[in-house]
Amino acid sequence: MFFNKHNENKPKEKIGIMGGTFDPIHYGHLVIAEQVRSKYNLDKVMFIPTGNPPHKEALGVTSSKHRYFMTLLATVTNSYFEVSKMEIDRDEVSYTINTLKCLKRENEDADLYFITGADAICQLDTWKNVDELVNLCKFIAATRPGHSSQEVNDKVHELKNKYHAEIEIIDIPALSISSTDIRDRVNKGHSIKYLLPEPVEYYIYKNFLYMD
Ligand code: NAP
Repeated sequence: MFFNKHNENKPKEKIGIMGGTFDPIHYGHLVIAEQVRSKYNLDKVMFIPTGNPPHKEALGVTSSKHRYFMTLLATVTNSYFEVSKMEIDRDEVSYTINTLKCLKRENEDADLYFITGADAICQLDTWKNVDELVNLCKFIAATRPGHSSQEVNDKVHELKNKYHAEIEIIDIPALSISSTDIRDRVNKGHSIKYLLPEPVEYYIYKNFLYMD
């Protein structure tokens, strides 16, 4: 067990950081966050919806206000979960390096676990200041059924060697829910019930999200 350098008797805090667009948040995200929390014995998981998603220039992405509210609604029943506005409150493009530096300053002694989709992790070498980023956290890459696990394994192996990054792959085989699919279903008038928490479903209809 690792101990806090300021208080030898206090175990180091472990914080999960769940980064994503969450457009919308769904049970796939929630199950991943809860499984990672329990597997790594995390003290809490902070959901951080992206402000201006890097590489996407925010084109076609639902306003951060809606994505933030949906994330709050979805996480309210889990006492280990928190939602942070730090990326959506930033005026400039939100890079993970800035977020993690800020969290490291606020939680000097904590170990940070950055949790996100394996697709996003596979692009890690295009992220800003990746050499510095890999020293700030451990990455947990969640895979999704239907994606070639060999491809993800090879890429993660390459990234680990290149950057000495700590990356672990976590499989949640039963969950193939995706935000893209949910948006598509709403747009076509199909049901999204049981794919995401009910309050989020109501929020989507009440605010006419994902309808052309
Ligand atoms: P995304 O395109 O929304 O997501 C990529 C894939 O990962 C999608 O399949 C997505 O599924 C899934 N996913 C997203 N967040 C997830 C999560 N927390 N747990 C499990 N699966 C998740 O990618 P993104 O949301 O823009 O980026 C993900 C994170 O990486 C964000 O925190 C972002 O800031 C960071 N990022 C940083 C940089 C940089 O610093 N330069 C560049 C790219 C990404 P769903 O569609 O179902 O969510």
